[in-house]
Amino acid sequence: MLPEELAEEFAAWGEPRYRVPQVLDWVFQKRAGSYADMTSLSKSLRARLTETHPLHTMKIAQVQGSRDTTQKFLFRLHDGRYVESVLIPANRSALGDMSDRRTICVSSQVGCAYDCKFCASGLAGFTRNLRADEIVEQILQVEAHSGQRIDNVVFMGMGEPLANFTNLARAIRILQAEWGAGIGARHITVSTSGLAPQIKKLADFPLPVRLAISFHGATDEVREHIMPVNRKYPLDVLMDALDYFRRKKKQKITLEYILIAGVNDRAEDAVALVRRARSIEAKVNLIPYNTVEGLPWERPTEPAQDAFLAVLERGGVPATIRREKGHDIDAACGQLRLKQEQAEAAAAS
Ligand code: SAH
Repeated sequence: MLPEELAEEFAAWGEPRYRVPQVLDWVFQKRAGSYADMTSLSKSLRARLTETHPLHTMKIAQVQGSRDTTQKFLFRLHDGRYVESVLIPANRSALGDMSDRRTICVSSQVGCAYDCKFCASGLAGFTRNLRADEIVEQILQVEAHSGQRIDNVVFMGMGEPLANFTNLARAIRILQAEWGAGIGARHITVSTSGLAPQIKKLADFPLPVRLAISFHGATDEVREHIMPVNRKYPLDVLMDALDYFRRKKKQKITLEYILIAGVNDRAEDAVALVRRARSIEAKVNLIPYNTVEGLPWERPTEPAQDAFLAVLERGGVPATIRREKGHDIDAACGQLRLKQEQAEAAAAS
């Protein structure tokens, strides 16, 4: 809840207004584990809150990786569904730059409806949107577990964040608020498969966020082949929305481009990407494809990756290659959850 909503609720309960900052302080600064811990509140208020506004409704079901590498968290939600978050330590920023930030990659939905052909998240289809608290909770719990403050949030986990716009916007407000998680302005990146109207909506939204696009194909032919969303919003429509966003927000956009052998890694693909990136002055982040069990796609060889990068550089496009750090821990989107659900299904049958 936002403070103004909590204030309304408390007013209706006859609670004094100063209870609102007290509760927020317990949740976000003191990081209380339950209402019972909030000893400055009256017993009756604690009981009422426990009943009406369940706190910390999700549990860490599994952690993979170690403290100084990429760590992956599997969360079990109140309804038994699973989502994943990934903690990326300093110097391994998900955006490829050598930053000293601790980054968390969070999920926005259970499953995904967009059916990108290379992605594990969509394999089991779409289940539901995450609520704003389930998005925020991923950050709070990973911070508590790792004992580290997170200073960068990327919406590059499971789901399509812009298809869950209302909860996304609410979560971002809570994450950026001083009374909330206190993530700095511009340290939140939303990644989208390319929902053009929502990109414009985000541009008009008074929140400082960065934008990354899962581009993956610089012609309609290639992009459509691996991303069905391109049929709904073809590249010209998408580029128009991106141009609107960067002008409105006065910001560089990142085009993420997974390199898949024989699919989008030819020299002509790189040339087409140069043209698209230059048209909106975007930077490009190349990501060698992470293989997914059961899917046929493969990453190109390193020399092939380097050749692709060289075309971008010659074309004057700022570009980096993200050499995946989490390959060994199922860090490609949705893979951990898929395994968990398969294991549970096997146990039940
Ligand atoms: N739906 C949003 C948010 C998910 S971001 C979006 O599409 O941007 C997750 C990123 O990981 C996307 O760029 C996605 O294309 C990429 N991805 C998915 N599967 C992958 C894989 N197997 N290897 C590498 N990147 C992958």
